[in-house]
This record gives sequence, structure tokens and C-alpha cells, in this order.
Amino acid sequence: MSETIKTDVLIIGAGPVGLFAVFELGLLDIKTHLVDILDKVGGQCAELYPEKPIYDIPGIPYITGHGLTDALMQQIKPFNPTFHLGEMVTTLEKIGEPLFRIGTDRGKVFEAKVVVIGAGGGSFQPKRPPIAGIEPYEGKSVHYAVRKMEAFRDKRLLIVGGGDSALDWTLNLQPIAQRLTLVHRRDDFRGAPDSVNKMRALVASGAMDLKIGQVAALEGGDGQLAAAHIKGNDDETARVEIDAMLPFFGLTMKLGPVADWGLSLEDELIPVDTGTFETSMPGLFAIGDINTYPGKKKLILSGFHEAALTAFAIQHHLYPAKKQFLQYTTTSPAMQKRLGVATA
Ligand SMILES: Cc1cc2nc3c(=O)[nH]c(=O)nc-3n(C[C@H](O)[C@H](O)[C@H](O)COP(=O)(O)OP(=O)(O)OC[C@H]3O[C@@H](n4cnc5c(N)ncnc54)[C@H](O)[C@@H]3O)c2cc1C
Repeated sequence: MSETIKTDVLIIGAGPVGLFAVFELGLLDIKTHLVDILDKVGGQCAELYPEKPIYDIPGIPYITGHGLTDALMQQIKPFNPTFHLGEMVTTLEKIGEPLFRIGTDRGKVFEAKVVVIGAGGGSFQPKRPPIAGIEPYEGKSVHYAVRKMEAFRDKRLLIVGGGDSALDWTLNLQPIAQRLTLVHRRDDFRGAPDSVNKMRALVASGAMDLKIGQVAALEGGDGQLAAAHIKGNDDETARVEIDAMLPFFGLTMKLGPVADWGLSLEDELIPVDTGTFETSMPGLFAIGDINTYPGKKKLILSGFHEAALTAFAIQHHLYPAKKQFLQYTTTSPAMQKRLGVATA
């Protein structure tokens, strides 16, 4: 287990709302750490609709999910938040007043005076492919994410799927694998055309195999795969010897560990006070899609408003004696200094 990371504020979820909370807290000179299950920031915008246009961000007539994520990252750059990506917050307990201990599935431990839950629709979890008997291999020789590429060096790999993740990992792992086979149910890929072309060139040169069909059965024992039986669309079955299988069937959102943190939930959402966005537990705040209150709308702009108000509430929680007053970024020398744009 690694050393405890101490911080004033830990944000769970680096979706658009968690990212904007970094900005609002940064304006008030409060530093943040963020944890996200995904290996990238941007939450639903980055994972579910990176290329789709969003038309209802105030003052921005049109921006894609990816574009909004990039813009938010640029906006929070002056505040230099620390990101812990590819880890799920699994435990959260109150250990003092004000102090929380937070643990991740990768063994990281944080102590934070304030926690902001910006967990959106919950945790993104990989969709399990419909292959009978896959469970005993999961986490041993069936992997839904690549955490360390080296773990796959010189292995016979089977990648399953036809989207960007399947294609990206095909291109990244092919050079280090002993042999790589990509399986997709049809000869038509949803991934970026450039990746599809690169994959097809590798197949044409004999550097990897492409099979059109579905994994019908697995062979192996004690969690270690030995072979996969791939049923082609012509009903012929091919046996491919493998050491590991990586299915990329997309992600679904499940509430996940948030349900275990001692909060009374309403329809899997966290009720909050609309003046502060504090939950029933002092020092624990919830913003964005994960919270609920009368009239709540799951919109990015609602989450941005919540992030602004919660930042003031957090400042008061951390420094109750500090007098609060509203400052404008246009005119506040202190804020401009924090933003790195001060002229004087
Ligand atoms: C197809 C589609 C189109 C949309 N179009 C619009 C639109 O046009 N306008 C609009 O306003 N809204 C739109 N939305 C809704 C908008 O995307 C959400 O309101 C917004 O993403 C909510 O942001 P968030 O930061 O609260 O949560 P999310 O974006 O869901 O981010 C939450 C993050 O928390 C992480 N997380 C969850 N649990 C944990 C945990 N235990 N540990 C670590 N990390 C965790 C997740 O991995 C995720 O990255 C759309 C949504 C979809 C699906």
C-alpha cells in the first residue's frame, strides 16, 4: 500500500463538472486532487460522445464533447490539479472533523478535509461479452483494460471488438505480442478510419490475424486461457491458441461503490442542500449528475453552477473564520494572480 496522500480537497470524478470545480476552487486558492476510473478526463463527454456537438453551453454556440474537455483542461491549467486516472474510489470513511480517508482499487489512500463527489452516472464498467464460462478467467487472462502493456509482451493475444478501444489496443500491442488476433462480428469497424486502415495493412502484411465472427467457447484451466473457439459467420469454427483475451465491448454506467459510503440515496442519487451542495454528511459535497434536489436537471450548465456555489461552501468549511466576499475575475488582482494573468 502506498503512502497516504494528504489534500484539502479530493474530487471523485473528472467529468466536466469535477473539472470545473477545480477552476472554481482554484479561484479561491484551494488546491485539488482528482480521481477517475477512466484513463482520461472528461467523463461522459469524453467517453460517450467525444465527437457529438453540444449546443447548450452558455456563450459557446457549438462544441464537441472532446472540445469541451480540452477547453476545461486549458481553463484549469493555472491551478495545476493532481490527477489520479485509471483508479476507482472504492472506500470513503469519515475519520475526523474535518477529515475523510479515501481508498482506491489500486491501493492509493488519501486523507482529505473535504470530498466532492462528482461521480456523474456512477462508475463506467466494462460490458462483459456473452461468452459462457468467461468469469473464472477475468482478471487473470481476460482483461477489460490494459494497465501495463509490458504484461502482454511475447503473449498470444486475442482482442475482441470493433470500436476505437479494440483498434487502438490492436495497434499498440501488435508490435510487442508474440501473435495478435483481432475478432469482430462483422467486417465493418466503428473505430477511426485511420486506425482501421493501419490494422488492415498489418493483416495484409501477415503481421497479425483478423477473424470475422464471435468467440463461441474458451479453453483453459485455473484462470489461464489456452485457446478460444471462434465461430465464423460461415458457421465454421476456428481454434486459436492464446495466452490472454482482451474484450472491448464498450462501457456501461453503474452507481458502483458510491452506494457503500453511508449516504441515504434517492433513486441512486445523492440528495444535497441547494445553497452549498453539501450532502447529509458535513464536509462531503456532491455536484453534477450524481446529486438530486427539487428541480434538478442533469445538464452540464447546472453542474457548472453547482461547482461555483460548492466552492464557496467548501472555502467556508475549511476556513470558517474567513470573511467571504464575491470577487470578479475581470477586476480581482488576487484571482488574476492565481490565474497567471495579472498585469501589475
Ligand atoms: C449522449 C449524451 C449527450 C449529452 N448531451 C448533452 C448536452 O448536449 N448538454 C448537456 O448539458 N448535457 C448533455 N449530456 C449530459 C452530460 O454529459 C452530463 O450532464 C455531464 O457529463 C455530467 O457531468 P459530471 O461531471 O457530473 O459526470 P460524468 O460526466 O458522468 O463524469 C463522472 C466521472 O466520475 C467517474 N467516477 C464515477 N464513480 C467513480 C469512482 N467511484 N471513482 C472514481 N471515479 C468515478 C466516472 O468515471 C466519470 O468519468 C449528454 C449525455 C449523453 C450521454
